[in-house]
Amino acid sequence: MNVLDVHAHIDMHEFDKDRREIIKKCASLGISVINNGLNPESNRKTIALSKEFDNVLPALGLYPQYATKISKEEVEKEISFIKNNHPIAIGEIGLDYKWENSQKDVQLKFFKKMLGLAQELGVPAIIHSRQAESDVLETLKSFDLKVVLHCFGGNKKQVLEGISANHYFSIPPRIMTNSEMQELVRLVPLKQVLLETDSPFMSERKGLRNDPTHVLHTIKKISEIKKMNEETVIEQIKKNQKIFRQV
Ligand SMILES: [Zn+2]
Repeated sequence: MNVLDVHAHIDMHEFDKDRREIIKKCASLGISVINNGLNPESNRKTIALSKEFDNVLPALGLYPQYATKISKEEVEKEISFIKNNHPIAIGEIGLDYKWENSQKDVQLKFFKKMLGLAQELGVPAIIHSRQAESDVLETLKSFDLKVVLHCFGGNKKQVLEGISANHYFSIPPRIMTNSEMQELVRLVPLKQVLLETDSPFMSERKGLRNDPTHVLHTIKKISEIKKMNEETVIEQIKKNQKIFRQV
């Protein structure tokens, strides 16, 4: 079984010059990538990449900001596209209250709809939350789902709440330089840890393009924090990855 980057956006223009080389490099290093769609266009690119490469797997979703921009008809159309294309997970979905005029009520309604879709399909949900952690955790209580909290930035109390709800936390390479993420990994039991890159974002340091091969750096850092050898960390993370049934 390959090591899995559970959250990347390799369909983005940042990879237009070397997308294929990177995906092939991942394959040679034993890395598979779950590409997360953000909107109708990237959902289609995600499906195309997953058809071309065995080590790219599709997660399909609609990013929170879309909730306030897209018509009801378009949402229904996209949901049937998602159902027809058998995603490995629903993502990227979530709540984002960072923006002014974030229309919380509209986002919440939409988030519940997407979580309902994941539940109906029996696949995990990959969740973005920004300045919305308590609403995310509260909303998840009404669903029976495997949950991956991507780049979770909640406070200690919220992290502990996520742990006791059996959610998974996916950790990006930013952990190399970000002390809050290091603290997150200290708190979360290894059996609830997954790897992500959020490529091209969330690399070791701001401004540097991320790519899925960087999960190897994250493994190193996690093993250092957990005081375990890398083999043990990889073995446990591979067990955790089984929440994605097609891996
Ligand atoms: Zn993302």
